Amino acid sequence: MAPMSRDLSSFKRIVIKVGSSLLVDHGEGRIREQWLKALTEDIGELAKNGTEILIVSSGAIALGRNLIGLGKGHLKLEENQAAAAAGQIVLSGAWNKMLGKSGLTAAQILLTLGDTERRRRYLNARNTIANLLRLGVIPVVNENDTVATSEIRYGDNDRLAARVASMVSADCLVLLSDVDGLYSKPPEMGGGELIREISQITDEIRAMAGSAGSELSRGGMTTKIDAADIAVAAGAHMLITSGHKLHPLREIAGSGSWFIPKATPVAARKKWIAGSLEPRGSIIIDDGACQALKSGNSLLSAGATAITGNFHRGDAVNIVDVKGNILGRGLTAYDHKDAENILGVKSSEIEAILGYAGRTELIHRDDMVLKQEN
Ligand code: GLU
Repeated sequence: MAPMSRDLSSFKRIVIKVGSSLLVDHGEGRIREQWLKALTEDIGELAKNGTEILIVSSGAIALGRNLIGLGKGHLKLEENQAAAAAGQIVLSGAWNKMLGKSGLTAAQILLTLGDTERRRRYLNARNTIANLLRLGVIPVVNENDTVATSEIRYGDNDRLAARVASMVSADCLVLLSDVDGLYSKPPEMGGGELIREISQITDEIRAMAGSAGSELSRGGMTTKIDAADIAVAAGAHMLITSGHKLHPLREIAGSGSWFIPKATPVAARKKWIAGSLEPRGSIIIDDGACQALKSGNSLLSAGATAITGNFHRGDAVNIVDVKGNILGRGLTAYDHKDAENILGVKSSEIEAILGYAGRTELIHRDDMVLKQEN
């Protein structure tokens, strides 16, 4: 795809990160309603055409500091936390109202670093977001700044947005910002040429990012390059572009800097499963399930005959046939105790046995790598 012709309708699941300096009026510390209205109209158009959209929105602190009279200038951690608490409620309200006008339903998700870095919480957050998307709801995500202290916070929504894109296997991340993209000279030097496409994040690219960040937004160009690192490793395209347009998403063709991944999100995820995880046990499956897996299906509990090891939901396990051959590896949707109880059981009977409605699949096909795929 040539960069000039790349438009957002070719992607299936897009994370759109909106910076504080676009959303909040610098002077008055209020939401820029007209701008948000146009953006949510663009989002409505994409959603109508079947694109799944997630929003990562900054602005809680920029809005809240004005509301509770903290004025301009540097804030202490506890002031930031208080400002975020007051601002977040206004921020969510604005998204809710404006997305509603475009016929969409918003859902607020506040995340802390632990929610994307710790396995169990990660899976919970991922499931909730996946359910919302399935139901056609637009998740509006921000960092939970009121409980995040300096050691346990992202501090910038660029990286948070990239983690979210990776968590939900989005194929595109758009950073709407107050800059046009990455220039060949660092922002503090000015000048240089807009780099339209980056297929490798080299030291030279990092040097171009410099270290600037404006008063209202925390992320300078360096955090955007860090975000690109995370996004492309997860198989997502990433665009840095200016949001200072009448219709920020409609006018995207030919603008900004695109970072190009080497693989699709599914392939990137499979590579991670195959290469980076230590199996915690195994699931032994019958011949019917072996055939089903080889034809590209998920592993259902009905096809599992035994397990070994003490594994938790989300851990990697080996998938083994009855002769003991390792067929591949996958992330299990059940803890070993629950898996033991549903061996040979039909998916429709799982809830009655375990007392909760877990996943239909013991291992989903997107969470599985078979040996011949390697
Ligand atoms: N989470 C912060 C807020 O809502 C924004 C961080 C950022 O600007 O990247 O105010």
